Amino acid sequence: MFYIDVILPLPLAGLFTYSAPTAVERGCRVIVQFGAKKFYSAIVAECYEPKEPKPGIKEITSVLDEQPVILPSQLQFWDWISIYYMCHLGEVCKAALPAALKLESATRVSVIEEAYCEERLSPSETKIFDLLSDGKIYDIAEIARKAGVSNPIPGIRSLLEKGLIAADEQLGSNFSPKSETVVRLRTANEEDLHAAMDQLRRAPKQLSALTTFLSQMPTGAEAFSMPAKKLMELSGANAAALKGLVEKNIFLLEKKEMYPLEGKGSEVSADVQLNGHQQRALAQIEESFQEKNITLLHGVTSSGKTEIYIKLIAEQLAAGKQVLYLLPEIALTMQITTRLRAVFGERLAVYHSRFTDNERAEVWNSMVKDKGCQVVLGVRSSIFLPFRNLGLVIVDEEHEASYKQQDPAPRYHGRNAAIVLASIHQAKVLLGTATPAIETYFNAMNGKYGLVELHQRHESLDMPLIQVVNTKELRRKKIMKSAIFSPQLLAEMERAFEKGEQVMLFRNRRGFAPYMECKACAWSPKCHNCDVSLTYHKYANLLSCHYCGATYPVLHDCPSCQSKDSMVVVGFGTERVEEEIMELFPGKRIARMDLDTTRSKKSYEQIIDGFAKGKTDILIGTQMISKGLDFDKVSLVGIIQADSLFNQPDFRAHERGFQMLEQVSGRAGRKHKRGLVVLQTTNPDSQIIQAVCEHDYLRFYKKEIAERETFKYPPFYRILHVILRGKDRLKLGESSEYLSVLLRRSFGNRVLGPIEPPVAKVQTLFIRRIIIKTECNASPSVVREQLRNTLDYFNLQDISKSILVHVDVDPM
Ligand code: ADP
Ligand code: ZN
Ligand code: ZN
Repeated sequence: MFYIDVILPLPLAGLFTYSAPTAVERGCRVIVQFGAKKFYSAIVAECYEPKEPKPGIKEITSVLDEQPVILPSQLQFWDWISIYYMCHLGEVCKAALPAALKLESATRVSVIEEAYCEERLSPSETKIFDLLSDGKIYDIAEIARKAGVSNPIPGIRSLLEKGLIAADEQLGSNFSPKSETVVRLRTANEEDLHAAMDQLRRAPKQLSALTTFLSQMPTGAEAFSMPAKKLMELSGANAAALKGLVEKNIFLLEKKEMYPLEGKGSEVSADVQLNGHQQRALAQIEESFQEKNITLLHGVTSSGKTEIYIKLIAEQLAAGKQVLYLLPEIALTMQITTRLRAVFGERLAVYHSRFTDNERAEVWNSMVKDKGCQVVLGVRSSIFLPFRNLGLVIVDEEHEASYKQQDPAPRYHGRNAAIVLASIHQAKVLLGTATPAIETYFNAMNGKYGLVELHQRHESLDMPLIQVVNTKELRRKKIMKSAIFSPQLLAEMERAFEKGEQVMLFRNRRGFAPYMECKACAWSPKCHNCDVSLTYHKYANLLSCHYCGATYPVLHDCPSCQSKDSMVVVGFGTERVEEEIMELFPGKRIARMDLDTTRSKKSYEQIIDGFAKGKTDILIGTQMISKGLDFDKVSLVGIIQADSLFNQPDFRAHERGFQMLEQVSGRAGRKHKRGLVVLQTTNPDSQIIQAVCEHDYLRFYKKEIAERETFKYPPFYRILHVILRGKDRLKLGESSEYLSVLLRRSFGNRVLGPIEPPVAKVQTLFIRRIIIKTECNASPSVVREQLRNTLDYFNLQDISKSILVHVDVDPM
């Protein structure tokens, strides 16, 4: 008999021990019962023969995999994440695995429309498939009951692998599948086809399918194929008819890859010649990799970093190594996928949550089985894929805060975790950006990372010219006609349109107005669940909370002072910018890109595509337009209100503000022509604005790093946040005070707070934050152990009841 320690995909501490009649390899999944009648697929972390049997050890229900689906290096990586980020292994496991690999009682599955399989199904697969054939969604516990299969998980696993059913996250999504079934002729020989038609005289549906197919097939195009779905629509034949034709050896069914998220039709050449600056940078990176594992490529916007990455990837592939290419957001993968696909074809896999769960499981399985898939392009979650021989990790836009996972645990930083992943594989890391994170540049300056600078834009284009407009001054002199646009910005827009060029307008707030206010008593509506003012959305005609998503009807009368029609809007968001632009430039085609206009994948693509192809003249947007997007005909970028970026109570506010302005400015003037940025601000003398004007990162860095040192912030100190949440404000106050006293016993004056964060209530829970700042040379494991012990002690006290506590390591 063997004992197996497993990881359950649940937020629980520690491993769970079960017994098994035979040994099971680490990284295989087993099905275990946990709690009353709930079963889960759990991951084997250890397997051993017990010296003496312990009482009360349950036996596993069954083994799910013959070969491990999680590799030893992954288990090592999970361990690191759970220790460093102070969360449970089960939470890491839950985040790491696509739903189709972490089957449990509550996993919901349904049949895939047009499922077609030539293989024969086992009796339990058949029972499950028949049940699901009604098209409804069932959870696995229901399937066990209704299909009369006591342990349906193995059957469900194999149906998933055969592509007949789909699991969890995919359900209800309207994204098109990555592959579809297409029909092809087994032979295009005339005689054979005539014989086939004769044979089909008594099968009118099959005949109709064949003749329809032939009518669609261009002459001579023997390899012609068409989607099975389309053929059925056109011919009125059903799946059974197609199956009949396959059995008669007339048709062939194949799966065809679709790559749903890639930009279409753009011409990209596979082989680009690097310019001189790029060649030099490439050589310097290679040289730096001789000595250092991590190198920063600091290349200004539009310097052509992507082309350098492509050369580095090609080198790795030639050496038989894998490459992970990380981007901070799904939105950015689209343009780059097209580019990479042109060069690497089938060897590229794209991995993020806009792909269905089955597709993600497919990528995972093919990597475990070591088939194809040498380059992975994805967002932070791709660090969890089963790499076998990783040679290089590229972290593009490494400065982006969206690399940090906020909720739920594990609250990891994608860039930092990727660096650890690379070290497990002894792979190199290239961090790329035009605006390095302060921490990263600090590491490069003191020699921990290699540093390669690329200051030339492709085709020696000049960096955009920045024209600062002082809106405070204009208002004082009453020159601002519109509340939003300076005369300078409007004049430059006119000029751009005269030359047939495009304009981007940046405003980092969505909605029509950030809040409403009573003009009589200054009362303003707030969310019932959160400590946040409600944003007015004119188009949707409602007030909405950007923290919990709750919506409320628009108010006209003030509920506080009972004044009639006294509610007015204050400030402006992208919606209002759009409305004013429509009035100022009638006839211009306008697109707006923010969270509200890009809820579906389609709309996002349409906006980008429309602007790229010149179907729209003006693109208005939030920070969504600031990142990595590459448009040819944008000559002017308007930054409508730069100050709001800096006025936040956060030590990173200046860094973020600088990065955002520099990145947005970088969108101006690509391809052959220097761009112009009109930057509206009430504080033109601020050092950050000055640094942006001169595109002087170093100047900004020097000022910022000095402040970080003075005020004891990263990279000189490490920060941990202990977050407490509770429904009862008073009780929360008491218990956070108590916890801070406990923490001071171990950490002394390194503990700050508890404080009320700027947003002190979210989704009906009040929030308190305790900050722990530790010296950089303090041992992380000692810090964590002390913190863990204190929290364990706290959790045993009455005062901690109904208070939720979690730790955020290196918060962003
Ligand atoms: P970055 O990521 O550094 O901002 P990109 O990689 O997006 O810059 O490159 C900017 C533009 O210049 C892209 O349109 C790209 O295709 C083009 N480009 C860059 N390098 C070359 C090259 N060597 N030859 C031709 N076009 C290039
Ligand atoms: Zn009022
Ligand atoms: Zn809310």
